[in-house]
Amino acid sequence: MAVLEIKNIAKSYGKIKALDGVSFDVPPGSVFGILGPNGSGKTTLLSIILDVLQSDEGSYTWFGQEPSHLHRKKIGSLLETPNVYHYLTAVQNLRITQSVSGRGSEEEIDEVLKKVNLYERRNSRFTTYSLGMKQRLAIAGALLGRPSVLVLDEPTNGLDPVGIAEIRELIKELATQGHTVIMASHLLDEVEKVCDHVAILKKGKLLTHGRVDDVLSDEECFLVCSEHIPALRSAMNQFPDVLRIVDTPDGIECYFHKSTTSPWRINDFCFEKGIVLSQLYTKKKRLEEKFFELTND
Ligand code: ATP
Repeated sequence: MAVLEIKNIAKSYGKIKALDGVSFDVPPGSVFGILGPNGSGKTTLLSIILDVLQSDEGSYTWFGQEPSHLHRKKIGSLLETPNVYHYLTAVQNLRITQSVSGRGSEEEIDEVLKKVNLYERRNSRFTTYSLGMKQRLAIAGALLGRPSVLVLDEPTNGLDPVGIAEIRELIKELATQGHTVIMASHLLDEVEKVCDHVAILKKGKLLTHGRVDDVLSDEECFLVCSEHIPALRSAMNQFPDVLRIVDTPDGIECYFHKSTTSPWRINDFCFEKGIVLSQLYTKKKRLEEKFFELTND
């Protein structure tokens, strides 16, 4: 059963259609990335599933049921930067978060600090924390109440590379502990490193969704190189079923629909034409390439 099922959600702000018939499921235990350029509707969608905003059309279920107060308790979220007291310690800040939100108990504070690897620094003032530590404390607050799902809006926004790496490792760790993580981001590299599922939005429309590997594997790319590039290019242009050919500094990238050819066929074909390949390998498509392929007008 899906943790979250979104069906045909639409939302407009006046004339702006922020979401236009968006549907997808989030499987349990997944790290699910919601990707999209600025203004594509990511925050609007997260706000709807967290009951902060109402959709105009469509519906969603949490844990297979209509959303209710009971389900909300199983979801920790970080939509915007939480209020913190800079002169207080992590423990003192979390005590305030706990009593204001009513989520979890005081005994859980040590537990969440251990989860985000801040326990050793629990009695240091917030002002002494690095950016990554500050964000880990914010995530600790979202973990109060032992939620099984975490919803995070741009969790690495504004962080330096060290902070980004810390949050990436934390999200991976939370997933291995059984949490489902749903995160909006525009950092494609980060999403590829941490997420196993994605949904890509553009101008409120869902362009694609599913397992990252499946989203990336509709095409296969082989990189080929030989001493005489023009002859190789001309040969590969005659190769059956080639979709497109792209020149790169490392050689020629040849794209095919998945499973329509093999490196051996390419090698034999070139050899028959008197071309000896110096390189031939399958090139893994990056999420970044797929994203720009889908979102470029
Ligand atoms: P970003 O990556 O910039 O945070 P996003 O993908 O989260 O963007 P949203 O913030 O959901 O996108 O915005 C979707 C669209 O709705 C945008 O065109 C935005 O300008 C518009 N929008 C969002 N909130 C409001 C609002 N309160 N009033 C009017 N328009 C809004």
